[in-house]
Amino acid sequence: MRPVIYWFRQDLRLADLPGLVEAESAGVPVVPAYVLDDEAPGEWAPGPASRWWLHHSLKSLAESIRQRGGNLTLRVGSAAEQLIKLAAETDAGAIYCSRAFEPWAVQQERDVQRRAERAGLAFKRFTGTLLFEPEQIRTRSGSFYQTFTPFWKACCQQPEQPPPQPAPPHICWRPASGLALDDLRLSAKPPPSAAHWRSLWQPGEAGAAAAVRHFLNNGLYGYLQGRELPGHAGTSHLSPHLHFGELSPRQLWQAIKIHCLEDACLAVHRDRFLAQLGWREFSHHLLHHFPALPNAPFRDAYRHFPWTENAATLAAWRGGRTGYPLVDAGIRELHQTGHMHNRVRMVTASFLTKHLLQPWQAGERWFWDTLLDADLANNAASWQWVAGSGADAAPYFRIFNPALQGQRFDPEGNYVRRWLPELRALPNRHLQTPAEAPETVLKAAGVRLGATYPRPMVDHRQARSAALAAYREMRDAARLAG
Ligand SMILES: Cc1cc2nc3c(=O)[nH]c(=O)nc-3n(C[C@H](O)[C@H](O)[C@H](O)COP(=O)(O)OP(=O)(O)OC[C@H]3O[C@@H](n4cnc5c(N)ncnc54)[C@H](O)[C@@H]3O)c2cc1C
Repeated sequence: MRPVIYWFRQDLRLADLPGLVEAESAGVPVVPAYVLDDEAPGEWAPGPASRWWLHHSLKSLAESIRQRGGNLTLRVGSAAEQLIKLAAETDAGAIYCSRAFEPWAVQQERDVQRRAERAGLAFKRFTGTLLFEPEQIRTRSGSFYQTFTPFWKACCQQPEQPPPQPAPPHICWRPASGLALDDLRLSAKPPPSAAHWRSLWQPGEAGAAAAVRHFLNNGLYGYLQGRELPGHAGTSHLSPHLHFGELSPRQLWQAIKIHCLEDACLAVHRDRFLAQLGWREFSHHLLHHFPALPNAPFRDAYRHFPWTENAATLAAWRGGRTGYPLVDAGIRELHQTGHMHNRVRMVTASFLTKHLLQPWQAGERWFWDTLLDADLANNAASWQWVAGSGADAAPYFRIFNPALQGQRFDPEGNYVRRWLPELRALPNRHLQTPAEAPETVLKAAGVRLGATYPRPMVDHRQARSAALAAYREMRDAARLAG
């Protein structure tokens, strides 16, 4: 029987992978393969943080396959070319893969399919990346949803998710020649703080399962309130595992539902958590229907927004030198851990776009390079949501006050003190606004503004007025343009 090539993409796991299950039940040998194709994504090739994760995730997947008697074949180059070559070398009759939603990945899939069919191979694409396929969720008029609440309501009215499938135990793996993992050079230039990331993260399917267990036992109860507090470990930290497909959203959905069956008190936390998975679905839904999402404003009027692009301003924000502690703490958290808390992502993104009037694409690009969970759909949709240009976005006039956000969501100052030790000795009431603290308080805390900690780059009130004026200018320009 001719083997099937299982082409791993953003589904670096063995459980709940419909393509593998189908190959096993048909009894065909499987050639497991991963192709690092840096040309296809163009400007959206994985950044340094993502490459670090990918290296470790592939290592873990290769190990799982090895334990089952197989060998993950690694190749570099055009996915279509490499897969067709591999099929010729192994006499494979088909290529199977999971669906991906990045516009470049959709194009890549088409190329692979075209080349495969020309070579007389079958090509089969399976679901599993999302809970709901974008075509499945339609408004009454047949178009796509542009607001989250009705979108998620429609998702929740879909038939119950089928149970996830375990890793198929009886696959007959077929070896093929390939590169060593180090030849992919994914961790050739790791980000500076990556040296200690292995103590914070466990990439791979086993790490994802451990993170789910940890969250169910420690984080889910209290998620509703805890998720908003950056100084408290109240969220799941599952985003990189979900992005790389080490865990299917269906496995997570099921694990949460089963865990909550016996305890009615968990229902509010469960529903809030599932709604966050809903935002992931919504972001992919938007990207599918509006593939320009990573580069162009979803709301056309924002093409006229008078951004004031400035390299020095962007550098100060990226360096965590804005003089607003919550923003700077978030940037430090990102540099050091490859992650930033969701509330702080919102505040830092709002600060960049609304206080500093820098284009959201500049922040999106930097997050792309630095986040371990960098995800084209989630990142683009979230940046646009914060900037005001996105679907169902926060209204433009809602401009976060970073000091008030800090007082509200980090009331004890745990988060700011953790990431900005130079402010540690300030009393809580001055922690989020060091520039307003009396000189005696600053001196007692060892803080010298402009020396040990920067003065605020902009005054909040003035920045707010400037942002609102820019918004009015955009609105008028958009009206004139018709
Ligand atoms: C400016 C900005 C940029 C962002 N960029 C990314 C990104 O590149 N990749 C990414 O995965 N998330 C991104 N997010 C969304 C969110 O911040 C992260 O998903 C979340 O912080 C991950 O932490 P967690 O796994 O502990 O989340 P939890 O609170 O435990 O949530 C569970 C899961 O739900 C999903 N999720 C939660 N919130 C969102 C959201 N707002 N939008 C989409 N999915 C969500 C994630 O997959 C997450 O792992 C961004 C948010 C903002 C404001």
